[in-house]
Formats: sequence, structure tokens, C-alpha cells
Amino acid sequence: MKLTRRQTMLSGAALPFAAAPTFALADGHAATTMPTHRDFTLGGFRVTTLLAGNRNVENPHQIFGLNVDDATFAEVSAANFLPTDAAEFFFTPTVVSTGAEVILFDTGLSSAGTTSVLAAAGYSAEQITHVVITHMHGDHIGGLSDEAGSETFANAAYITGQVEFDAWSSAEDEGFETKVRPLSEKFSFIQPGDDVRSGITAVEAFGHTPGHMGYMLESNSQQLFLMADLANHYVWSVAYPDWEVRFDMDKAAAAASRRRLMEMAAADRFPVIGYHMPFPGMGYIATRGDGGYRYVPHSYQLL
Ligand SMILES: [Zn+2]
Repeated sequence: MKLTRRQTMLSGAALPFAAAPTFALADGHAATTMPTHRDFTLGGFRVTTLLAGNRNVENPHQIFGLNVDDATFAEVSAANFLPTDAAEFFFTPTVVSTGAEVILFDTGLSSAGTTSVLAAAGYSAEQITHVVITHMHGDHIGGLSDEAGSETFANAAYITGQVEFDAWSSAEDEGFETKVRPLSEKFSFIQPGDDVRSGITAVEAFGHTPGHMGYMLESNSQQLFLMADLANHYVWSVAYPDWEVRFDMDKAAAAASRRRLMEMAAADRFPVIGYHMPFPGMGYIATRGDGGYRYVPHSYQLL
């Protein structure tokens, strides 16, 4: 199954955006290899992660660990049971239902990809009251509108960081101009420390992009940190926070944010959701020694 799946993903053009890859078993019935949503309970909030896409990449050392040599990359990967010739990326928007609002954090690669997994999780696009954009890379803003330019979440208010919006606003970036600019009148802009809603607070995590922010959720004294792209691989970034990542626009600032916030997650022991962590995207951060951290996948703690 695994080989079949990988071959399919490498050859297929449609699959990066496919919600639920299915494959025929020997007896002819279809098998779904991965669920596309997972619900968690955080106090009075319902938190749902959505697998809005996945993508297979080759040569991950060209993305992670740019400042370490091939032998080091291979040694760390082997010690963690990871191949060095391929990696799978996950794209995971998160819905937080507070009871009063339904807040979507990031919008995936495409409108169709995200709305189909939203529907499977029991939400329509019309139900989304707020869309929060953590940063403006294409895999986070792609679902704001469809191919024709129509707004996906017609009833939503939009929220993002002022620093992030300002940086992309002057960057002449095609993704920003296509997806964000047409909605800019509907956006409100916040700073680190500001609340999106009661119990949902923006946290400075600059570096991956100029104004990248995470969001701390708190309900009935339970906390969870939506870390977005603070760390984009559970070994190559969580365990080795100083390894440079191609997609981090300011590599030193990104590493400093990674260290600061993973130290906090490890000390305070709250769960994190990472946009590119292995689906369903939730885990805990523990210290590893040697100045790094260890990603412990969520199991049943927040059912
Ligand atoms: Zn991303």
C-alpha cells in the first residue's frame, strides 16, 4: 500500500490537493488511507484540524538543515527512522468553534481543497465567522478565493497581523495580490498580544515570514498553542531548531522564535498544533537534551 501510494503521489498531478486519497484493495473495494479531520476538546472549545492537502517532496535536505552537511542530515534522519530522499508535507488549517464563533486559522492551498474537508468535518464555508491568517505564504492564503476569484468564506471577517500584511503589501507578491489584496478592505489588523476573541491571543513568532504569528487558545484554564509554521518538521525543525529552513525568510529570527516558543511549550506542557506536522497535527514538545526538543504526538489526551 505504501509504495503504491507514494508512486501515485509522485506521478499524480491532482493528488496534492486531494482530500482523501483512496486506493483499490485486492478485493476491489476502496480504502481511505487517512482521515481528513480530527476533533479535539479544549475546555469549552471544539478544535478541529483539517487535512486540506498533502504533498510528497524529494531531497528534503534542500529544504531542512541548510547549514548542516549531508552526513549530519543522514545521521539524524536515520536515528529517527526517516528517509533522506523523500518527505511528506501536510497542510492543516484548524477550525476553532467557541460556541459563539467558528474561526478558521489559515485556508489551505485551494478553495475547493479546504471546503471539501470542511464539509467532511461538518462545517460549511458559510458558517465560518472569522478567518485568521497566520502568515501569507501561498499554502495558507490559497483557499481565500477560488480560481475565478470568488470569495470562499463570504460571511467571514478577516484578521491578520499588521506587520505581516504591511510586509507583503509592498512585496509585489503574486499570491498576495491575487488572494489577499482583493479582500483587504475586509481585514482587520492586530499586534502580538492582541485577542482575536476572548481566549484567543496572537503570539509573536516572527522570522518564518516578517510578521508570522501563532495563536494561544485558552478555555476553562486549558491551553493549546497554534504554532502555524514556527517549526515545519517534527524532527528536522523541532529536534534541531537551529537547522536552517529554506522557507524561513529571516533564518536567524525564525530559529530564535522556534527556541523561545518551544521552550515555553516544553516548560508549560501545553499541546501545540503545527500546520505542517504529521496529521492530525497535534503534539507536545519535550526537551531532548543537547539544546533541542522532541515532538510527542497527541494520542487521546484531548478527546
Ligand atoms: Zn506553510
